[in-house]
Amino acid sequence: MPELPEVETTRLGLLPRLQGRTLSRIVVRNPHLRWPVPDDLEARLAGHALSRLDRRGKYLLFDFGAATQIVHLGMSGSLRFAAPDEPAALHDHVDWVFDDGTTLRLRDPRRFGAVLWTRDLSRHPLLAHLGPEPLEPAFDAAYLHAQCQRRKTAIKQVIMDAQVVVGVGNIYASESLFHAGIRPATSARRLSHPACARLAAAIRQVLAAAIAAGGSSLRDYVHSSGELGYFQLQTRVYDRAGLPCKACATPIRRIVQGQRASFYCPTCQR
Ligand SMILES: [Zn+2]
Repeated sequence: MPELPEVETTRLGLLPRLQGRTLSRIVVRNPHLRWPVPDDLEARLAGHALSRLDRRGKYLLFDFGAATQIVHLGMSGSLRFAAPDEPAALHDHVDWVFDDGTTLRLRDPRRFGAVLWTRDLSRHPLLAHLGPEPLEPAFDAAYLHAQCQRRKTAIKQVIMDAQVVVGVGNIYASESLFHAGIRPATSARRLSHPACARLAAAIRQVLAAAIAAGGSSLRDYVHSSGELGYFQLQTRVYDRAGLPCKACATPIRRIVQGQRASFYCPTCQR
């Protein structure tokens, strides 16, 4: 599943070729994504130039001035540049064709992604209640500690709650808790201010490292095939049940929380 670093890597890969370009047309082959692609998407956006491409959580925000297009990659979505006259494959649901012929193509086999538009981002129901960005200053130890004090759930579920902080998916939650030395099932209320400081710092560090890894691999994707791919993260605990901890050799444990797998080292995380 594309997580925040993959979405940010996608944004950085698309920006140089699309910024300032005028959208000529949109081809919707299958509108049945998580929500239907609006009938009037092309009418709202075509003829306008892309002034900015931003990200909020895992939403890509294409600012065309007259309206902003919101794209979410869902479970299996990816955006890439199609070659001229390249036929669309089975799961290539939407194309955006720009004035210089550049074609951006959305592939989404499971169709949990979304393509929407809005005139008022701040009041859009998908965006209005999102918590702070993990890499911005508002997400700090004091903020995380205050959020933890208000909740009775396990810390892993707190940091995966988009109303607390956006973009911390399952992989990055397990990895961040490992780096902070905190077990995923620990009650959020029991975490001290220093523990929250370690965790906030670990979340920033893990996400920034993943974005940097994506950025360094981006050139290869764009140059080899025009495709923006996703990168394999070198995980410390995620998906390593039974394997030795890379820090202390204790076997990594797997538990299930809220129907999601969590992984931790019983020695390094107390
Ligand atoms: Zn360990």
